[in-house]
Amino acid sequence: SNELKIAVGAMEIADKVVKDVMTKIEDVFMLPDTTILNAKTVMEIVKMGYTRIPVYQYGDKNNVTDMLFVKDLALLDPDDNFTVKTVCGYHKHPVKFVMNDTPLPHLLEAFKKGEGHLAMVKRLINTDDGHDPSYELVGVVTLEDIVEEILQAEINDE
Ligand code: ADP
Repeated sequence: SNELKIAVGAMEIADKVVKDVMTKIEDVFMLPDTTILNAKTVMEIVKMGYTRIPVYQYGDKNNVTDMLFVKDLALLDPDDNFTVKTVCGYHKHPVKFVMNDTPLPHLLEAFKKGEGHLAMVKRLINTDDGHDPSYELVGVVTLEDIVEEILQAEINDE
């Protein structure tokens, strides 16, 4: 039954972590904060079909500073030629981060508490030399990725 499937799927995510279900960074549609929002770029952004777009500081893809929501573009006058940075500065959607080895049940709890159901995934870079740890972005994860994982559980019922 579907109910059994969902129950089994929910138990199965207990053993999984964020990196098992995230969208890898090379497949993430992101924008530099310097992007000018004119008729052409707005159309390109809308065509991608995503609801939320991570925005990075120009020249440093590892430094995501804002989230652009596609719905924020609806009231924009393309002739104003605002930059992504200006529009993001107006809306100030918070950027959430999660470590790549976070268990999925923890992330599910965090998503249930908050409103923004998307997090940037970061990985700790090993520094053997005793210096401060540094991080690199490795992907994005959304509530949808967890739900997908729950629903794809396979049951061997013989
Ligand atoms: P959307 O509403 O944009 O479709 P969902 O939360 O429904 O986003 O997620 C659907 C899939 O798209 C998930 O696998 C998620 O990781 C991925 N995703 C979400 N935003 C982006 C983005 N900006 N670039 C690439 N993949 C994304």
